[in-house]
Amino acid sequence: MLKFDNKVATERKKKMAARKIIRDQMILMRKSTDAKPDDKKIAEDLRDTLLANKDKAIGLAANMIGKSKKIIAVFIGPFPVVMLNPKIVKSEGKYLTEEGCLSLDGVRKTARYEKIWVEYEDLSFTKRSAEYDGIAAEAIQHEIDHTKGKII
Ligand SMILES: [Zn+2]
Repeated sequence: MLKFDNKVATERKKKMAARKIIRDQMILMRKSTDAKPDDKKIAEDLRDTLLANKDKAIGLAANMIGKSKKIIAVFIGPFPVVMLNPKIVKSEGKYLTEEGCLSLDGVRKTARYEKIWVEYEDLSFTKRSAEYDGIAAEAIQHEIDHTKGKII
């Protein structure tokens, strides 16, 4: 019989589950599949990984920690917001910009929208919708591209 070590379990719980950032383009180019309730741990790990990289990244997508699921985590102000199955339903104000990525070297040119309307599910799989602009909107667009296997 396996003995449950309560003290070790508590210690483990306190530790954040930050994961290694993947730089393998073969993994990054895989299209993500829909996130299901079973994928909640991946979403929490992604949030913890974003927090661990807060001085370097505004957002992360799950395939950056090796999980090809439609899950992103983005800083909205100081708070990491996890979005499962995010979808941009409306966008306004196209502009050109250059973006860097924690999984890649250098920066790449891309077109983004100043204002976006997003539908997603939160960590308890409640449907949410919100509008974003500026840097949060740009980060969400970048991370949603990751879920499609696009590398920018
Ligand atoms: Zn990226």
